[in-house]
Amino acid sequence: MNLPYNSSERTQNAERRTQNAERRTQNARRTQNAERRTQNAERRTQNALSFCSNLKAYSGYFKDTQKLLASASGGAATAISEGFLNKFSDGVIIGAAYSQDCRSIEFACVEKIQDLQKLKGSKYAATDKKIFIDGQYQPVFKFAGDILKLNKHVLFFGLGCDIAALNAYLEHNKINTEKLFTADLICYGATLKEVHTSYINELEAKFNSHVVNFTVRFKKHGWTPFFIRAEFQDGQIFTTDFYKSDYGYAFAYFAQQKCFSCNARGNNHQANITIADYWGLNQNMPGWNSNGVSILLTRSQKGEELVNLINRDDFILSDADPEFAVEHNGAYFSIREKIKGYDLFIDALKNQGLHKAVIKHKIYTLPKRAIMFVLRLPKRILRKLLKIFGLYDFVKAILHYK
Ligand SMILES: Cc1cc2nc3c(=O)[nH]c(=O)nc-3n(C[C@H](O)[C@H](O)[C@H](O)COP(=O)(O)OP(=O)(O)OC[C@H]3O[C@@H](n4cnc5c(N)ncnc54)[C@H](O)[C@@H]3O)c2cc1C
Ligand code: SF4
Repeated sequence: MNLPYNSSERTQNAERRTQNAERRTQNARRTQNAERRTQNAERRTQNALSFCSNLKAYSGYFKDTQKLLASASGGAATAISEGFLNKFSDGVIIGAAYSQDCRSIEFACVEKIQDLQKLKGSKYAATDKKIFIDGQYQPVFKFAGDILKLNKHVLFFGLGCDIAALNAYLEHNKINTEKLFTADLICYGATLKEVHTSYINELEAKFNSHVVNFTVRFKKHGWTPFFIRAEFQDGQIFTTDFYKSDYGYAFAYFAQQKCFSCNARGNNHQANITIADYWGLNQNMPGWNSNGVSILLTRSQKGEELVNLINRDDFILSDADPEFAVEHNGAYFSIREKIKGYDLFIDALKNQGLHKAVIKHKIYTLPKRAIMFVLRLPKRILRKLLKIFGLYDFVKAILHYK
């Protein structure tokens, strides 16, 4: 016998119908999103391919494991620099290095192979465009121009925007560039220099000693994941997973303002050669090395000359497919978008330092549901927790919490 259809059952059925409708809407949205993602991926592939017509690609890595471990990817930048110094007795390499106190990143000039180690490794924050020569700082582009005027060979390493700025300076000052060679790195976007300085300051405060050696590409377990390694004056050593650190968070989300309209992309790379990690390569493919592999993309005769300077007894060099390389390294051609809460992070970074800026941004981007859960905690406990983390005023302001 059918029971009478009472009002509570009617309500339950209605709720169930509403839930089903919501689920259907969500599924439809998910399908649409998946289709959009597929279309975007196809568009990216097409985009990538359109930038490869003028490129030749090579991949490689140092045979010597210690040399490879000390390099950011496969060590192509160092291998080219060694070849350059061997070939040109008047050769000068200009590249990025940490300052003496490790607090900032600047340019350095190297004329001997044994000094190349100071340029090794990726520096993921903005560089000061200056170089310390004979006891004083000089603008780095002027320095490069002065060396060229002395008719010496120069190999300049920079990010795409650095090479564009160097070329503009040399052109403006009508300096002969016949003996100039340029190399840039595929660039995801350097984070702000305040991120680097603040990270070093916070480490030194925590360990009560000065940092004397620093890298963000320490190969603790091989090529990836990246590790930070800081060596202190008193012998202490600190290592941490880069992308789980405040520095890694800042690098991943907060590039310099100018990077959001970066022009040094795709066919606008001006360097003779572009070097990068060979992303996309895996252990089942020829040319793999678990301690890192470089990709080298040449776009000019001078780029080819640089590749030919590499000593193949020390460095395993193979031909590679430019389309595959570019397709797997989106930063070659695409620009990053500014993340929500960018200005809030920058403001906190400049006023309160990196660690607090990261915490604030993480809270700012928490899903509303998580915030509501926290807000349901007894106010006494909540207030205490927020005060412990120094976030009481901030959370109060963004949530209008009283
Ligand atoms: C900000 C930044 C973003 C990057 N983004 C990507 C990316 O999205 N995809 C990718 O595949 N690779 C990227 N790279 C490049 C990658 O991290 C390696 O630097 C590159 O593969 C060179 O490795 P290597 O082993 O040949 O260099 P090494 O032999 O270790 O030598 C390092 C060389 O890089 C130069 N260098 C390091 N940092 C800087 C800097 N800040 N400015 C100018 N020159 C510098 C040094 O002068 C030196 O010549 C990025 C690098 C930087 C600095
Ligand atoms: S993303 Fe462009 S503007 Fe930003 S650091 Fe890299 S090359 Fe320069």
